[in-house]
Amino acid sequence: MQLTNIGVIKDLFERHGFSFTKSLGQNFLINPAICPKIAEQGGCKSGVCALEIGTGVGVLTQELAKRCDKVVAIEIDTGLKPILEETLSEFDNVEIVFADVMEIDLKALIAEKFGDSEVVVCANLPYYITSPVIMRVLEEKLPVKALTVMVQKEAADRICAAPGTRDCGALSCGVSYYSKPRMLFKVNRGSFMPSPNVDSAVIRLDIMDENGLGVKDEKLFFRIVRAAFSQRRKQIINPLSGELGIAKAALADIFSECGIRPTARAEELTLKDYAALCSGISAKL
Ligand code: SAM
Repeated sequence: MQLTNIGVIKDLFERHGFSFTKSLGQNFLINPAICPKIAEQGGCKSGVCALEIGTGVGVLTQELAKRCDKVVAIEIDTGLKPILEETLSEFDNVEIVFADVMEIDLKALIAEKFGDSEVVVCANLPYYITSPVIMRVLEEKLPVKALTVMVQKEAADRICAAPGTRDCGALSCGVSYYSKPRMLFKVNRGSFMPSPNVDSAVIRLDIMDENGLGVKDEKLFFRIVRAAFSQRRKQIINPLSGELGIAKAALADIFSECGIRPTARAEELTLKDYAALCSGISAKL
C-alpha cells in the first residue's frame, strides 16, 4: 500500500472515520524518498530491531519492517488502530503499542520486546516532545545503538552544534555528553500532509558506551551546564555563583585552577572544560 499517496491516505481516513489531531503533531510524511532514507541511514538492517515512536498511518513503520528483524512502534492515538491493522497487515514482524512515549517504561519495553538484540530508535514526533524524548533515551541510558529523529531544521542545527561553538546550548551539551550527533538530511515542509510552517531535518545520534570525560557527579555536571546556559550572554561565574551558592572569587580560583578564564561565557567551554569545572567544584563543596 503506497502510504505516501494522498488519495490512498484520504481513502483510509474516510473508511475508518479518522481525522487529524493537530495537538498530537499529526503531520504525516508524503514524500516517498524520505522514509527509506530514514530507515537506511538510521541503521535498519538484518540483525537489528527498531523501536519507532509515533507511527501515524505506518509509512515509516513499513520501511523499518522491510529492513529490520522486528519493529515495535509506540503510538498515542488509538484512533489509528484500525488503519495500522490494515496498512501493516503484510508484516508479521511489527507490533504496535498504544501508549504515551513520555509515560511508558522504555527500558522495560526494550528488554521485554528485544532481549539482547541490537536496537535502533527512529522517530518522527511532534516537535514539542522531540527534545524530552531525546533526553529520555539518553539519560535513561537505554540499551540503544542509535537514535534517528526528525526535528525542526533550526533545532537540528542547535542539537548538532559542538560544545564550545556559537550555536551550542544546554541541549547540545547533553546530547554530546551521551552521543555523537550528526545531521543526516533536510526535509522541506511540502513533504508532509498537512504541511507545517517550518522545514525539518533528520539527525542521527550514535550513542556512546563511554564518553571518556570521567565525570563522577553527573547531577552536578548538568546543574553547572544548565546554570551556565541560563544566561548565555553573561560570564558563567555569575549564574553559577547563584546556582551553587559559592562566592564569585572562590569560583574564579577554581576556574583558574582548571585552566579556564574566569570571564568565560557558556558557549566558549568544551565538554572537557565543564567536566574539569565539575570535579574542581565538587572538591570544594
Ligand atoms: N511517523 C509518521 C509519519 O512520519 O508520517 C507520523 C509522524 S507525526 C509527525 C507524529 C506521530 O506521533 C503521530 O501519529 C502522533 O499521533 C504520534 N504521537 C504524538 N504524541 C505522542 C506521544 N506522546 N507518544 C506516542 N506517540 C505520539
